[in-house]
Amino acid sequence: DRSVCSPLPVLGRDVTVPLVTGGEVSYAALDYAASAPALQRVWDDVAAYAPYYGSVHRGAGYLSQLSTDLFENARRTVAGFLDCRDGDQVVFTRSTTDSLNLLAAALPAGCEVFVFETEHHASLLPWRDARVTVLNAPRTPGEAVATLEHALAARDPRGPALVCVTGASNVTGELWPVRELAAAARAHGARTVLDAAQLAPHHPVSVRDLDVDWVAFSGHKLYAPFGSGVLAGRADWLTAAEPYLAGGGASRRVSRREDGGVDVEWHESAARHEAGSPNVIGAYSIASACKALTEAGFDTLVARERYLIGKVRSGLAEVPEVRILSLFGDDAPRVGVISFVVEGWNSSHFAAALSAEYGIGVRDGLFCAHPLVRTLLGSDPQAQGECGAPEAGPGEKSLNAIRVSFGAGTPDEHVERFVTAVR
Ligand code: PMP
Repeated sequence: DRSVCSPLPVLGRDVTVPLVTGGEVSYAALDYAASAPALQRVWDDVAAYAPYYGSVHRGAGYLSQLSTDLFENARRTVAGFLDCRDGDQVVFTRSTTDSLNLLAAALPAGCEVFVFETEHHASLLPWRDARVTVLNAPRTPGEAVATLEHALAARDPRGPALVCVTGASNVTGELWPVRELAAAARAHGARTVLDAAQLAPHHPVSVRDLDVDWVAFSGHKLYAPFGSGVLAGRADWLTAAEPYLAGGGASRRVSRREDGGVDVEWHESAARHEAGSPNVIGAYSIASACKALTEAGFDTLVARERYLIGKVRSGLAEVPEVRILSLFGDDAPRVGVISFVVEGWNSSHFAAALSAEYGIGVRDGLFCAHPLVRTLLGSDPQAQGECGAPEAGPGEKSLNAIRVSFGAGTPDEHVERFVTAVR
């Protein structure tokens, strides 16, 4: 399709890897869902800033002031990228996992949490101190909304509650009905946090339009692999909570008490949860990626990705032994994340062969979403060991899967090579 734009320039396109069959080949990074390569633009911005690096919020010198400005500007850029409401906070964290653990630590007393079993472990597990209701995997987006409605209807609406939803699955790539789920939550007095780790790199995310209370994502999946993530959204629960980490930067005033102890007044801004010297390069690189994706235009990026998804899915459809894993079916809207199993093959051996014989990097396993992958594979969890690479004997079901994923930097040749290799 000639109308589809070129890939955005990313790092790593000139990396070559050895093949077991002899010679070398350019590396085909098809594991964007785990970590995407840095956009060239992000790398250039970071390199241009690096000589001027200084500490944030901690110095009177010029470079410290500059770094503080860049860090706070990055916050504003991210707020714009997510279409945040007035009064929302943007907290820089280490990752999506960190962001969701931060929110979990900020839940009000007695908060209930509702989460689907289909979530990535980063969304499923942080709510250890809450009363958690785990919802069964739905088979349609409508069933997801109905399942949530049913569970919420049984709760006492006077108490606080949080619904944690994923924008795009890291296993099936399928889009979830976020707006409808958030509306159902709102109607039952619950709040919503959106895990946008897999959504934000592929689609625009508007906190306002989706009407979610918080959103979390990771820089390294958004072409900004410098160690930062984001939690953005309502200030009230964050400001009422104890700081996620205690230390410098989170505290406004600290004094000794008469009885020998220490009194602390914490900040009420996002700094409350950002104790310690901030990762300015991480924040700056995320802001750079937000600008680059916005300037490239999500309409254009989505069109290109749809074209690549079509190539991969039609290529896989020609191989009768391949089964693509899906909850919502073939027609569901999705991002460039496709998991599958190949009859007669151990998925880990298959992925290893793609690497060794074709220079293609994919992922194998249960993708930190064990309940979902087990549901999709239809296998008995009791029969499985840990998330390793269990052997599937002849005629047996695969116990793990293969995942190919791609995005704004993926050239046609990489997905074409992948399809040829699978064939
Ligand atoms: N949620 C989803 C949907 C993910 O795909 C991932 C990463 N695989 C995470 C959360 C966790 O992200 P991170 O490892 O950057 O914390």
